Amino acid sequence: MTALIEVTELRVSYGQVEAVQGVSLSVAPGTIATVIGANGAGKTTLLAAVMGLLPAKGSVRYEGRDLSRVAAEERVGLGISLVPEQRDLFATMSVMENLELGAFRRGRTEIPERLEEVYALFPRLAERRRQQAGTLSGGERQMLAMGRALMARPQLLMLDEPSLGLAPLIVRDILATVARLRDSGVSILLVEQNARAALRVADTAYVMELGQITLSGTASEIAANPKVSEIYLGGGQ
Ligand code: ATP
Repeated sequence: MTALIEVTELRVSYGQVEAVQGVSLSVAPGTIATVIGANGAGKTTLLAAVMGLLPAKGSVRYEGRDLSRVAAEERVGLGISLVPEQRDLFATMSVMENLELGAFRRGRTEIPERLEEVYALFPRLAERRRQQAGTLSGGERQMLAMGRALMARPQLLMLDEPSLGLAPLIVRDILATVARLRDSGVSILLVEQNARAALRVADTAYVMELGQITLSGTASEIAANPKVSEIYLGGGQ
């Protein structure tokens, strides 16, 4: 199957330090690809470069098109959305206002329909539509960050550590929603330190260490790999 997005030999540097050192990966349409790796492996940097937020060497092709001259905002227009690790919400604005901002590129007339889609996916947000974003729980904030990205109707949703700081039950909930999105046709690039949770929901997986991809395969192959099991899954299972 032709990949929706194909990253080839991507390199990103901060001054002298090369944080992403020739990473190649792809996401097939309607699938979840996960990149697992420890703190500082370069996962956030990788997503920022794919989004066009950091200068990079190598190539990013989306639907066969080379994105090297396409700015981040235009990438959103082409159907790529990023949910950053910090979740970047507007704390004093309501849930609904935060969601509406996610649709700024689309016509205002589309907003009610988009909102209904997001509320159907996250009923908790519907109940809290008038609540200030700054007063939401951690899980609700993650839902709102995802909801806001979905307001742009992405074909490719990139998630940077959606499980960060959340209790296991909430993580399960969030990742179940990610799987539902995949089943509805959205392709997902999921970056996670929580390898166990990510591998449970992903179709394909990459292990990233010190800026490089050191292993790749189907999620079940990667989960069964003894090295992955020892280092990332805490042994056993
Ligand atoms: P985490 O899970 O902690 O976010 P990560 O895998 O996402 O880790 P990155 O945040 O991409 O890793 O960081 C990769 C490397 O690049 C690290 O060594 C980090 O210190 C470095 N780095 C990240 N951002 C910058 C920056 N703005 N300037 C200099 N170095 C940076």
